[in-house]
Amino acid sequence: MSMVDYDTVMSAAEQKCIQGGIRFTKRRKQVLSVLIEADVALSAYEIAERCNAGSDSNMPAMSVYRILDLLQDQNLIHRLEIANKYVSCSHMTCSHEHDQSQFLICGGCRHVEEIYLSPDAVDALQTAASSAGFSAISPQLEIKGWCAECHQSNE
Ligand SMILES: [Zn+2]
Ligand SMILES: [Zn+2]
Ligand SMILES: [Zn+2]
Repeated sequence: MSMVDYDTVMSAAEQKCIQGGIRFTKRRKQVLSVLIEADVALSAYEIAERCNAGSDSNMPAMSVYRILDLLQDQNLIHRLEIANKYVSCSHMTCSHEHDQSQFLICGGCRHVEEIYLSPDAVDALQTAASSAGFSAISPQLEIKGWCAECHQSNE
């Protein structure tokens, strides 16, 4: 990600925090930028490690968890439930309503692509789940596969 994109994304993130009534503190910025720069899903432990690398202030794991919850509430990051890892939202600079995200996870480079299903497809998912007796499901799909680049280099 180029520096221009990074700055744009960070100022969009700051705007969303302000709108959400929370402050975009130094630590929150740091956690978010670790995720943006990683470009792959990271566990809370990996995030803490990267935040603390090369800095003398030690961020405790508990603060990282709190910050992750907070950033998640603002839709700035998402949690991959199955892997229990976090990714930065790829729609931070968008002004549209944030729908339920679905995730495509590359088995090669571990890149995570955030996509949206049509409302009809989400409905179909909910219907199928409730006919199996599941209630109050969170319709988040985490699909493994190969991104275009890794697919090509595998042929
Ligand atoms: Zn998102
Ligand atoms: Zn968008
Ligand atoms: Zn890939």
